[in-house]
Amino acid sequence: MTITDFLSRLEVVKDRGDGRYSARCPAHQDQDPSLSVRDGEKGVLLHCWAGCDLSAIANKLGIEIKDLFHNSQPDPRQRREAIQRRAKERAAQRAVDKAKGRNTDLLKHAEYLVQSARGMTIDTWTSAQLDKRLNCLADAYAVLWGEHHEQH
Ligand SMILES: [Zn+2]
Repeated sequence: MTITDFLSRLEVVKDRGDGRYSARCPAHQDQDPSLSVRDGEKGVLLHCWAGCDLSAIANKLGIEIKDLFHNSQPDPRQRREAIQRRAKERAAQRAVDKAKGRNTDLLKHAEYLVQSARGMTIDTWTSAQLDKRLNCLADAYAVLWGEHHEQH
């Protein structure tokens, strides 16, 4: 395939000049684009600075290593499957991020409750307030407990 065709499969592509590009590596959680791409004489040259295998990168893009040569065309079915697989992975990652965000909110809320409860007597709280606040603290406690156990 051509370098243009190859780059169209990547994200966060930057032209570094001289036939060199950088992009997000599809084979690992790449925050700071670490995939180097070069237009070689016979094909597209790749290097992931995080150490991903060439075959892992090709696999994620739905191509084979031989497709990186300028004179070969990838199988469209493989490409479609790879796109679907990546869409699924992204949706799963978004769900994880969302759950993390919710837990952070919960902890902030619990921290606020503990601080505002200082110097306050619980018997001035209505039972509805008490119920709500204890539930919040219980949820936060469950989150902290869960995190503590994940670390071990
Ligand atoms: Zn990588």
